[in-house]
Amino acid sequence: MITIGILAVQGAFIEHRHIFDKLNVKSFEIRQLKDLSLPMDGLILPGGESTTMGKLLKDLKMFDLLQEKINNGLPVLGTCAGMILLAKKLTNDEREYFKTMDIAVERNAYGRQLGSFFTFAKFNNIDIPMTFIRAPFIASCGDDVEVLSVVNDHIVASRQGNQIATAFHPELTDSTYVHEYFLELVKKNLSKA
Ligand code: GLN
Repeated sequence: MITIGILAVQGAFIEHRHIFDKLNVKSFEIRQLKDLSLPMDGLILPGGESTTMGKLLKDLKMFDLLQEKINNGLPVLGTCAGMILLAKKLTNDEREYFKTMDIAVERNAYGRQLGSFFTFAKFNNIDIPMTFIRAPFIASCGDDVEVLSVVNDHIVASRQGNQIATAFHPELTDSTYVHEYFLELVKKNLSKA
């Protein structure tokens, strides 16, 4: 049975749990270092505030181990702030986090007025609802990165190996498609082992 660990130090983690409940997939919340020793087949980095999450991960001594797990191939889905945590580079911020994914990300990229919006667009060629909240977008990505969604000429979802990043919040809509896509990756990864 697949088990997904959901980072739960800050942000919209409970909504991800609800999606996995809907899909009958077991999940648990990662709140402190000891939770990282529980077995997990995939990891969710939720939306929230990347600066706060980054700081808490360091304060709680979870940062290095999480980074190591991602580098070792643990499948990960980073949404919004979670995408910022994965990015190799931020275009408008000095801060840096895991740097495991070859994407350059612009924080709060839509300005104040368009800070939050809702649209339908393709993710991996399937139309899905997308909720953006003070969202980042992917300003550029490396050759190994597959573009999964483009909205208003900006890349808003991508995959590199076992890492998926979305600028929008797939956990805040009725669609479970992004999570199912992630679970396919998790299953493929398990069958490789
Ligand atoms: N603006 C937030 C940040 O920079 C991300 C917003 C979100 O996760 N909804 O961390």
